[in-house]
Amino acid sequence: MPDGSDGSDGGKEAAIPIGLGTLFGAFKHGRRDGDDLFRQEARKSFDNDPEISLAKRILENPEGLSPEVIGIIESFLTRVHQVYLLQAQNDALRSTVDGLRVIASFDGLTGLLTQQAFRAYGEEMFNHSARNGGRIACVMGDVDRFKSVNDHYGHAAGDTVLRSVGGVVRSTVRERDVAGRDGGEEFGIILPGTDLDGACIFAERLRRGIEAKEFEFGGNVCPVTMSFGVAVRDIADGTFDELKARADKGLYAAKNDHGRNAVVLSSVSGRGGFRCVSPQDRFRYEGNEHNVFDLGVLVRRLLGKVGVLSVR
Ligand code: GH3
Ligand code: MG
Ligand code: MG
Repeated sequence: MPDGSDGSDGGKEAAIPIGLGTLFGAFKHGRRDGDDLFRQEARKSFDNDPEISLAKRILENPEGLSPEVIGIIESFLTRVHQVYLLQAQNDALRSTVDGLRVIASFDGLTGLLTQQAFRAYGEEMFNHSARNGGRIACVMGDVDRFKSVNDHYGHAAGDTVLRSVGGVVRSTVRERDVAGRDGGEEFGIILPGTDLDGACIFAERLRRGIEAKEFEFGGNVCPVTMSFGVAVRDIADGTFDELKARADKGLYAAKNDHGRNAVVLSSVSGRGGFRCVSPQDRFRYEGNEHNVFDLGVLVRRLLGKVGVLSVR
C-alpha cells in the first residue's frame, strides 16, 4: 500500500514486489533485452547442472567413445539447454503476470487502489477483524460539486483535483491503512485497529486537508471540499459491504442533511442514526458511542465462548 509519506501530489509509484524489478526492466526495454536476460538465466542454470558438467567433461576427453555416443551426448546437452531456456522464459512470464496483476490493482490517476482491489482488501481485512474481534473502520469520501469543477474548468482540471485528493489521502493514511478510488470522485479508506474517535479524527483531518488545498485554474481560485461518512464495525455488520454501506449512508447524510464539507458518523445500525461530527463548530461529537461498540465486542466474545454461532 502506498503510504504517501512524502505528502506530495505527484503519483507515488505503487509498491512492486522485490525481485520483479529486473524482469520488469527486461519487459520495459523490449523483447531483445528480455530474451538476453532469459538466455543468461538459462545459461547459469545449465552451467550449474552437475550432469551437464559431467557430460562436458566426458566430451573433453572423447578417447574410446564411438561417434554415435559422442553425438548422443552432444544432443543431450543441446536439449537440456533448450529445457532450461524454456523454464527461464516460463518463470519470467509468471513473474511478469504477477507484477501486472499488482500494477492493475492501482488506479493510474490517483495512485490509490482500484475499486475492485479496494473491495478485495476490504473483505480480507474485515474478515480478519471479525475473526479476531478487532476494530476496523471504513471512511467513504466524495468530492463536493465535482461536476461543476469539470463544467467550469474542464475535465483535465477535474483530473488534477482527483490526483491531488489522492495525494492528500496518501499523505494522511498510516502504513497499515488501505485507500482506494471507489469510482469517479469517490474515495474509500479502511482503517484497521481504529475506533470511532480515531476514525472521526482521521476523516476530519482529511476533510481539512482537502479544504486547505489551493487550486487555481486559468487564474481563478477553485475551492474544493469533500464530504465523508464514517462507520466502525459492529456485530450487526456481517460483511465488509455492510460496513461500507453504512459509511456510504453517512456520506449521503453529509451531502443531503449537513450541507456538504462535513463528516458524518453512521452509528451502530438502528441505534443512533447519523451524527455530524465535524466541522466541530457546526455540530459537536459527544463520543458516547464507544460503549455501544465495546458492548458489542464483549457480547460477541462471550457468545463465542459458549459456542453460539450467530448473534445476528
Ligand atoms: P455532489 O456534491 O452531490 O457529490 O455533486 P457532484 O457534482 O460531485 O456529483 P455528480 O455525481 O453529479 O458528479 C460527479 C462528476 O464526476 C460527474 C463525472 O463526470 C465526474 N467524474 C467522474 N470520474 C471522473 C474522472 O475520472 N475525471 C474527471 N475529471 N471527472 C470525473
Ligand atoms: Mg461528488
Ligand atoms: Mg459521487
